[in-house]
Amino acid sequence: MKFLSIAEAITKGKGKVAVRGWVHRERGSNKLKFIILRDESSMIQCLLPQEKFKKQWLDIDKLQIEASLEIEGIIKKEKRAPTGHEIHVDKINIVGLSNEFPINKDLNEELLGDRRHLWLRSRKMTSILKIRSTVLQALREHWHNKGFYEYHSPTLIGMQCEGGSTLFKVDYFSKPMFLSQTWQLHAEPGIFALEKIFTIQPAFRAEKSKTSRHLTELWMAEMEAAWENFDYLQDDAEQAIKHVVSSVLKKNKTELEFLKKDLTTLKATLKKKFPRMTYTESLKLLKSKKKVDIEWGKDLRTIEEDKLSELYDTPIIITDYPKQVKAFYMKESDKHPSEGKTVLGFDMIAPEHYGEIIGASQREESIERLKKNLKEQGEDPEKYDFYFDTRRYGSVPHGGYGLGVERLIAWLCGLDTIKDAIAFPRTMSRSYP
Ligand code: ATP
Ligand code: MG
Repeated sequence: MKFLSIAEAITKGKGKVAVRGWVHRERGSNKLKFIILRDESSMIQCLLPQEKFKKQWLDIDKLQIEASLEIEGIIKKEKRAPTGHEIHVDKINIVGLSNEFPINKDLNEELLGDRRHLWLRSRKMTSILKIRSTVLQALREHWHNKGFYEYHSPTLIGMQCEGGSTLFKVDYFSKPMFLSQTWQLHAEPGIFALEKIFTIQPAFRAEKSKTSRHLTELWMAEMEAAWENFDYLQDDAEQAIKHVVSSVLKKNKTELEFLKKDLTTLKATLKKKFPRMTYTESLKLLKSKKKVDIEWGKDLRTIEEDKLSELYDTPIIITDYPKQVKAFYMKESDKHPSEGKTVLGFDMIAPEHYGEIIGASQREESIERLKKNLKEQGEDPEKYDFYFDTRRYGSVPHGGYGLGVERLIAWLCGLDTIKDAIAFPRTMSRSYP
């Protein structure tokens, strides 16, 4: 018989079905065994009376949580069963035994981390991983629909892009190399061939602080576009987030419900235009609405981002940061000449205290300025010579951004920590399994 998913079997609702999966719960007496079987799609109660299975009874009686089974039987409505149906089993094939599955509800975060490979089977992790899959598909759809090409940059590179303090050094045949912090330096050359490109790939940052928002290996969705201006970047970022949110609301109702996610900000995000303000305006807001006084030129820290996000129910876009707090490649602007130099860069801040989800900028075109910025950071411009070629041969206005996939998922799912947004998180204190 052809196997149905448990959800398909429930939809069928009557007659003979074959399903397979893992024992989620079991109880029984010497007369009758109840098994809740789960698969990727759902779960269902299964009834196995001793009378019917005299030969297999010893094995059935010993079945434990997470054993894998194939069963065949008659599915019927049963109000008292967890998903409203049950299967009266006629045939059972025990595929893989399980002995004292080492996950239970008393485990703390640390132990669940040690047993992550098994904890993935929980409904919580399964729900998050399904939403993650929707998020990645939606991001790809968003850019493909606009004619972008998927393009890839190397992971092993010879220079920094986002500051030397978070670089991971790799011994590359006795020569030092680094794990890439972003695709950017190798993406910019790509736009001269393909014009509009994106990627979704891991990025690495040796984050030494313990926060609920930082991983050392994260996935970044990044785009880079030739000929486009700063407004285009903001519009594209807003459209990308809206498309992701709309896809998750459509495809993952069950998962959002299981995770008990309050949908207020997700719904508002679909309906409203994201507020856009300059860094300087955001300082004024912080002062008037939150009684927080920040000196012009200081970067916004987590607490300030959180305070700003409390004023809105959608993501917000903050533009034109002071030049000294942003990366060397951001294009200089003169938004606030009386205060100091600014850059055409923006951060998008998620609602509900989930912090910065996107960092973006128009790229600086002047080689002289790029070199000066690098030197000021103690970098040797020589190492970036290939990058300057993008400015030497037919330079065009361009820009792009990086979106932190796990930060976005943490907000969409309402997670306490970013670690749960990925199957096997990597942080300073977590590298196993
Ligand atoms: P933050 O200041 O919040 O650490 P950043 O300014 O260093 O972030 P960018 O260099 O702008 O980050 O990277 C683009 C996006 O990648 C960020 O907006 C964020 O969503 C995500 N991101 C950056 N670092 C991390 C990290 N260590 N873990 C998870 N996501 C990250
Ligand atoms: Mg940033």
